[in-house]
Amino acid sequence: MIPYGRQRISKADIELVTEALSSDLLTNGPRVAQFERKLSEYVGAPTIVVSSGTAALHCAFSALDLQPGDEIITPPITFIATQATAALAGATVKFCDVQADTGNLDPEKVESKITRHTRAIVAVDYAGHPAELNELSEIARRKGVLLIEDASHAIGSTYRGFKVGEIADITTFSFFPTKNLTTAEGGAVSSRHPELLKRIQKFSKQGLVREQDELINGTEGPWHQEVHEFGLNYRLSDILSALGISQLSQIENFKKTRSQIFDRYFQHLGHINRLTLPTRRSYTEPMWHLFPIHVPADLRRSIFEELRRNDIGVQVNYLPVHLHPVFARAGYKRGDFPISEDFYDSEISLPMHANPEVFNEKYFTTIAGIFSSILE
Ligand SMILES: *Cc1c(COP(=O)(O)O)cnc(C)c1O
Repeated sequence: MIPYGRQRISKADIELVTEALSSDLLTNGPRVAQFERKLSEYVGAPTIVVSSGTAALHCAFSALDLQPGDEIITPPITFIATQATAALAGATVKFCDVQADTGNLDPEKVESKITRHTRAIVAVDYAGHPAELNELSEIARRKGVLLIEDASHAIGSTYRGFKVGEIADITTFSFFPTKNLTTAEGGAVSSRHPELLKRIQKFSKQGLVREQDELINGTEGPWHQEVHEFGLNYRLSDILSALGISQLSQIENFKKTRSQIFDRYFQHLGHINRLTLPTRRSYTEPMWHLFPIHVPADLRRSIFEELRRNDIGVQVNYLPVHLHPVFARAGYKRGDFPISEDFYDSEISLPMHANPEVFNEKYFTTIAGIFSSILE
């Protein structure tokens, strides 16, 4: 089965990880700081690393010091970690529908969702395609709320010449194996606001304060560390940071491979009736995490099953988050966000990853044959 997403691990990755395993510090060592430096440079904004994309989001929301009743606005087309972390950090989760073509938060609908309780607009770069960051930033600035970007899909993507990570107030990344680069489990948070990033980092390290000039009990002794606000252990280890450093050095190659696969899908599937391929806005250069297509909703299931029967490991991304039973208690139901629901009903994610040997001529001919036979 050709999976919809998969890591690409090189000999250099294995060597660097092996070296890290033989060093004195398996965690809290020099590789973490080195990975953070290289990521900050690559992304164009100060960046800290954490143990997962979910941890990155939980740290971001926890740094907002949310009060009961505070709201955040999110799109339904995302992995539920976007909302779960916000809810666990104390936010009331609100939804706003998406654009029908990109699946990203629709800026034209966001403004009417903002109330005096809103603290943040949370955009998701679905499939690696950046959200409408200029419009969303402008609304956020005007309304005095933050723009948080869940860029779990989008490290390596650019928007109007800027890297994803240097635009929103806070940007989070995931390094899960199916994502654009991997540390097995891992994530990162970028922010140009030093005080926010410091709170985020502190939350990821048990809330511990060690700097002498910040201590409340400053006379305890040289061993002393203290907690002013609760945090958790969301550290990334040195072993995984070694993998991250090595993966990051290959990211432009990964991006090129993903773009070539994107183009070949267009060559082979572009002419097929009733099949809609992904949209790219002219002002973006996505690093494609997914290759999401749309088919007639009544045929989605049979096409999905036929592809799986042919060992093409397709996936559906995502069940609109408001339709998870956990949100039924809050009164959400089918019909609430029709564009997201239509998007989901017709969506299939075709395999997309930086392993070019899998995507040979036979693969594209097979997949084109399957679509032609069902749709034409
Ligand atoms: C993968 C993903 C996450 C969670 O990242 P993990 O590293 O798996 O914890 C969050 N949001 C989105 C949109 C994702 O795709």
